[in-house]
Amino acid sequence: METLVEGLQVLNDSQMVGDMYRQILDCLNRLIEFDYATILVENDDGYLTSAFASDTRSTFNRVPIEGVFERGLNGRAATLTNLSVLQEWPESQIDKETDDSGVSKRPTLKSALIISLPALSNRMLLICASEKLAKFKRKELDLLKSFAPLAVQAVRRSQEMAQLNYLATTLEHQAHFDLLTGLPNRNYYERKLQDLDEANEIYSILFIDLDNFKTINDTFGHAAGDILLSEIGFRMSAVVGDSDTVARMGGDEFSLIIQSPRSSQSVEILCIQLLEAIREPLYLRNSRIIPTASIGVLHTNEKNIPRQQKMLRADIAMYGAKTQGRNCYCFFNKKMESRVQTEFDIESKLPFAIKQQQFHLVYQPIFDSKAFECRRLEVLVRWGSDQEATHSPGNFIPIAEKTGAIVELGDWILQQSLEELGSWLGLTKNNILCLNLSQVQLQRTDYSDRFLSQVESASVDCRQLELELSENFIAECIDETLSDNLRKLKNHGVRFAFDDFGTGKSSLLHIQKFPGTCLKIDKTFIDNIAKSDNQRRLIAGMIDFSHHLELDVVAEGVETEEQLNILCNLGTDYIQGYILAKPARAEETLKLLEQWHCPDHLNYRHAVAS
Ligand code: C2E
Ligand code: CA
Ligand code: CA
Repeated sequence: METLVEGLQVLNDSQMVGDMYRQILDCLNRLIEFDYATILVENDDGYLTSAFASDTRSTFNRVPIEGVFERGLNGRAATLTNLSVLQEWPESQIDKETDDSGVSKRPTLKSALIISLPALSNRMLLICASEKLAKFKRKELDLLKSFAPLAVQAVRRSQEMAQLNYLATTLEHQAHFDLLTGLPNRNYYERKLQDLDEANEIYSILFIDLDNFKTINDTFGHAAGDILLSEIGFRMSAVVGDSDTVARMGGDEFSLIIQSPRSSQSVEILCIQLLEAIREPLYLRNSRIIPTASIGVLHTNEKNIPRQQKMLRADIAMYGAKTQGRNCYCFFNKKMESRVQTEFDIESKLPFAIKQQQFHLVYQPIFDSKAFECRRLEVLVRWGSDQEATHSPGNFIPIAEKTGAIVELGDWILQQSLEELGSWLGLTKNNILCLNLSQVQLQRTDYSDRFLSQVESASVDCRQLELELSENFIAECIDETLSDNLRKLKNHGVRFAFDDFGTGKSSLLHIQKFPGTCLKIDKTFIDNIAKSDNQRRLIAGMIDFSHHLELDVVAEGVETEEQLNILCNLGTDYIQGYILAKPARAEETLKLLEQWHCPDHLNYRHAVAS
């Protein structure tokens, strides 16, 4: 009894599971004389494993269970005399049991006491075995049985501890590794950078973002998206060196740390290899897809840049790769940083600027190419005063589109231009007012209604208004809300123009379907028209097919006499550009047009050319 109490005490005090078992078995050994004792727990794979943590006497390790202990199971106690199976221990176990002379000693057990322990999900045995005794006594079996609850407690405790340990390691793993790809996660990654910085190591950072991942996810479902992400993680890991780190930062973003890169060329080669590995086709739901990615690279020897800044720079470079058309890599340079800072500045100031109405409008006349008379006026927005523009529309409009601020700003532009239009009625009644419109605006369900009511309150005829839509936008014009808005406006007589034609991806099919009446050839085509025959032929073709589709052609950004000449010769209907008039405030444009006559030398050239 005393020994039992002592055993219980052990159970309470013991911190180490191994100690706990050993002491229980020690207590038992004072009552029963045995050579070997152990507690065996059956594993999920059917093996009995010693519940000891580690002990020299735990020779019962990994004994196959089959056929050995059946008689001792089902809660019944049993003594075993035939231990032949037990002697088939794995060789490795036997080898450990060597005597003083170093000769391997195979234990020759003669008998054993075995009880199966109840109340646990896994089968469990408490065993005492002897090399000398032919048979244990009944009394000894009863003693062993009285130890059963103690053993059960001990095993339960050890299992709990094992579970806790498992949980702790799993949590530890999850804190540093990504569940889906098994790659290090952002925590691990940032920790790694910190370690490298502290060790004064040089490293390059690559930011990798999959192209069009959202489309893949939307088309094939999230499960397929997950497969793609794991595959890409796997492919990248296969490309990089052992000392490099590939981490998943979240979503479809990965990052790579290249330790002590040899040169920027070696980083470039790695980028090329990564792009190639990523580009390998794969099948998702029976569809063959070719994934691509954009890679931003920060390769620098500068040491005093904070970690976050380095990551930001690699990210900025990645956006650079996106704008360069994706499926490519781009190295960071300082110019990119100032661009991002500008964007950030715009994004944070824009909402306030709209509330404060820090904008004004300018108008740029568009002339017909025969009589050089003004036929259209393009409304262009400016941020800041005449003397000091805060940001150019080329910079802030895309951000306003991205943040949705363009809706409110666009409403203000329409309202303001309609008001200003009223003040120069005499001039404008033969002119069309051209407003730039963003896709985001037309995607609002109520856009056409709001537009029409604004126009109606200003008593302006819809037929005097033309909305310029960028070519890309027309190509993406599959949105139902957008088409509804277009139709409604068209039915009220509003005109439409393709803006920036030639820069985007619209096909002839899109153009044919689109209810436009005018096509504006982008400035980038005009710029080279004087230098390149090809460019000239291309523009001639554009003009030709536009006329077939009964579209008027406007050439944008005409700056030189030579360009003007060529364009007039090619049959362009309208000319817009600094050569004739720059965008200016309403009053100024009004004054210019009242006194307008085409500069004589241009008229002359035109006459000669035609
Ligand atoms: P866009 O619609 O292609 O407008 C024509 C741009 O070319 C204007 O630049 C105009 O000032 C400029 N431009 C005209 N002729 C010449 C020329 O001969 N040489 C040169 N170098 N440039 C010329 P701006 O005003 O800076 O506008 C840039 C872009 O910002 C516009 O391109 C348009 O996409 C957008 N934007 C401007 N105002 C608005 C607006 O009120 N609403 C919307 N949604 N977008 C606007
Ligand atoms: Ca325009
Ligand atoms: Ca344009």
